[in-house]
Amino acid sequence: NPSTIGASLIPVINKLQDILATSGAELSDISMPQVAVVGSQSSGKSSVLEALVGRDFLPRGCDICTRRPLVLMLENRPKSDDDSREWGEFRHLPGRRFYDFSQIRREIQAETEREAGSNKGVSDNQIRLKISSPNVLNMTLIDLPGITKVPVGDQPSDIEARIRKMIMAHINNENCIILAVSPANSDLATSDALQMAKLADPTGSRTVGVITKLDIMDRGTNACNFLLGRVVPLKLGYVGVVNRCQEDINKNRSIQEALAYEERFFREHPVYNGVSDRCGIPQLAKKLNQILEQHIRKDLPRLKAVLNSRLRAVMKELQTYGEVVESKAEQGAILLDILRRYSDGEEMDPCENLTDDDIG
Ligand code: GDP
Ligand code: MG
Repeated sequence: NPSTIGASLIPVINKLQDILATSGAELSDISMPQVAVVGSQSSGKSSVLEALVGRDFLPRGCDICTRRPLVLMLENRPKSDDDSREWGEFRHLPGRRFYDFSQIRREIQAETEREAGSNKGVSDNQIRLKISSPNVLNMTLIDLPGITKVPVGDQPSDIEARIRKMIMAHINNENCIILAVSPANSDLATSDALQMAKLADPTGSRTVGVITKLDIMDRGTNACNFLLGRVVPLKLGYVGVVNRCQEDINKNRSIQEALAYEERFFREHPVYNGVSDRCGIPQLAKKLNQILEQHIRKDLPRLKAVLNSRLRAVMKELQTYGEVVESKAEQGAILLDILRRYSDGEEMDPCENLTDDDIG
């Protein structure tokens, strides 16, 4: 599914991992950035994250639903496995695999209550959930509680400061891509999301703006000025989306139905024709995938250096064996050549450049 985060990069990463494995380099996975959502309560953060993952499993709703940080570790499992099903496993329930994603949502809710009570309380104690699947990229997504101003239920009087601190602790990480989520039906100039993102990332080099709820704007208004960066400029730009409304959630409408509805919304709405590259969950996924791809490219010189030194060591060892040297050295040269093409090339299109023959 091309509209999910990382999907288009999985073949690239797999090829790179193959190369690394061929060289015998003992490298851990190519490190990927984290992606975190920030914004005010009910701006649609959990909805956006869920759509990007392509699975229904996060608590969403008009009240405060996300009350603890949820760290979602996506883990790519090779397709060749006997069991190609996707499953989730919580850190607090080791060894128990959840194949039913609605059960994952129930467990997130139950675990939220265990720690933060049942009366709107909030806790900075993370819930950690691993999703194992052949269709995801190895990476971490973080769903965070939204900013609220007025304490309700069991919330302490300093609830706003507490939530802000919790958010900053996650997005201050230089390796974190910030999805700053703001609803289209309020002014972008007052957006909590953009304000927090600016604090953590003053240069805007890792902040992507997401405008939700384009479907419920005041009649006669539209989000074009937001999307074009005319209200609050943002280096990496904005994407506007339409997620499921509360009625859709109550009626259990699927992500697929929601994506189809979103596609139709933008197609039939004349003002968004001219900015269609900034509209829709698939465009958001594409933008994020481009950012992740750049990240991989940046990491290539490091991988190359590790491979080079590994190669030198192997050659030295092989010299003691005689004849084999040539073919092994040849293999090494091929590997280096492949990597050089990656890190020197302007356009990274490794799926095209790299065939199984290259790897040998
Ligand atoms: P969060 O608190 O920021 O995580 O927001 P949620 O994802 O829980 O969504 C809050 C509420 O807004 C839910 O009732 C969603 O159905 C609704 N919602 C989210 N995005 C949209 C959207 O694009 N359009 C409409 N109509 N409703 C949305
Ligand atoms: Mg939420």
